[in-house]
Amino acid sequence: MSTATSAPSALAPLHSQTIAELSARLVRGELSAVELTKAVIERTRAVEPQVKAFNSFDEADALAQAAASDVRRAAGEALGPLDGIPIGLKDVIAVRDQPLTASSRMLANFVSPYDATVTERLKNAGAVLWGRLNLDEFAMGSSTENSATQTTRNPWDLACVPGGSSGGSAAAVAAGQAIATLGSDTGGSIRQPAAFCGVVGLKPSYGLVSRYGLIAFASSLDQIGPFTRTVEDAALLLQAIAGHDARDSTSFNTQIPDYRAALAQAGKPSAWKLGVPKEYFGEGIDAEVSAAVERAIEFYRAQGCEIVEVSLPHTRYCLDVYYVLATAEASSNLARYDGIRYGHRAQGASDIVDLYFKSRAEGFGEEVKRRIILGTYVLSSGYYDAYYLRAQKVRRLVTQDFLNAYAKVDALITPTVPAPAFKVGAKADPLALYLCDIYTIGANLAGLPAISLPCGFTAGGLPIGLQLIGQPFGEAALLRIAQAYETAHDWHRRVPAL
Ligand code: GLN
Repeated sequence: MSTATSAPSALAPLHSQTIAELSARLVRGELSAVELTKAVIERTRAVEPQVKAFNSFDEADALAQAAASDVRRAAGEALGPLDGIPIGLKDVIAVRDQPLTASSRMLANFVSPYDATVTERLKNAGAVLWGRLNLDEFAMGSSTENSATQTTRNPWDLACVPGGSSGGSAAAVAAGQAIATLGSDTGGSIRQPAAFCGVVGLKPSYGLVSRYGLIAFASSLDQIGPFTRTVEDAALLLQAIAGHDARDSTSFNTQIPDYRAALAQAGKPSAWKLGVPKEYFGEGIDAEVSAAVERAIEFYRAQGCEIVEVSLPHTRYCLDVYYVLATAEASSNLARYDGIRYGHRAQGASDIVDLYFKSRAEGFGEEVKRRIILGTYVLSSGYYDAYYLRAQKVRRLVTQDFLNAYAKVDALITPTVPAPAFKVGAKADPLALYLCDIYTIGANLAGLPAISLPCGFTAGGLPIGLQLIGQPFGEAALLRIAQAYETAHDWHRRVPAL
């Protein structure tokens, strides 16, 4: 078991500082992007054998990007707060000429011919793109144990999972192997691993961040978002990636506020109404998790917030609805992996149908196959109305629950996950794993922004996550509410002793 140390930031090693701190040092000329990138590479080399967060990284490429950043800055052409900051990407986000595997045998040798929109935007912001991070195969899972490459470990306790599916992205930030990372969240895959690893994870509103170049899992739910050490860093990273993209037909064309400036406008907690959904505190919640979240609620109350109990009555259907819709969409999205156009092709097939069968049987892991079969079933004629169509209708009711609550409150406050990180191998039954998503899925079904931030530790030293769910496209307010908690606590300053 790791023990936590709480380091004042100025004395902290480079690899555990924030984007805001490091970019200020880069601006003042106290630090170069190459020095910073070298520090992150060294840290990665030192702890990666234990943490196993990366599927691949390219040191020479990262150092070349860092050198280019230093040249820009010397010429007075620095691009903003991300210029020269090493940022890792979940291995479902395309980076031109770099491997893109989705932690699947299917794409083991695939190299992306193009950049995702978020990648392009990070490059335009001067970020040093650093490494491709491990995940559950095709983002299906809650622990990274479904990865075909390796199981990432929780930096706070190497016997435990980091959560998933973006486990590599969360663990890398917690372990100091990147200053920030991007992940994707379909049913909780940013917030749940952020909670397990003691970092900040933000799932934006559906449509705020382009999905172009994100390997699709369930297209009506998937969103890319940041993992960072602080809420301010989440604002900085969101600023760089948010905004309309003509290449994603579900991208929402809206004015993007200045998220960091919104944080600086002194929040007035006495003007905030926070809703506590009673369905999120039912049976099955771990006692230490519920105590930590209760303390966070009391904190907000003490700041003058009005705390209102609300009800989201369709919460009990969320898991079922999610596992019908997500598998249906996955079965369709994954049809493209046929052994012909992408990825793994089986040898020795007798004809084209045999080639499809063998390539898919060899390329996909167990969980991915389970979901394709389930999704195909709920979409098949005779079952479509009973499952898929009905799930769409209940999804609408779930969304309406949230909208009803937002007539009364500004944001909802809940635990992120019912329990802290569990031991590797402890949840062999897929249904037990699906239950990890019970508090996170609602925001995906309703397309709402939601953030997880650290709100304490268990007696055993594992992080606990607090979730705040915001109004549609209400990221600026959500970040302010989250930061009010963060600045009054120092959980986010703790680093695992690896
Ligand atoms: N754990 C959920 C699942 O397995 C969510 C995954 C995700 O958000 N990508 O589907």
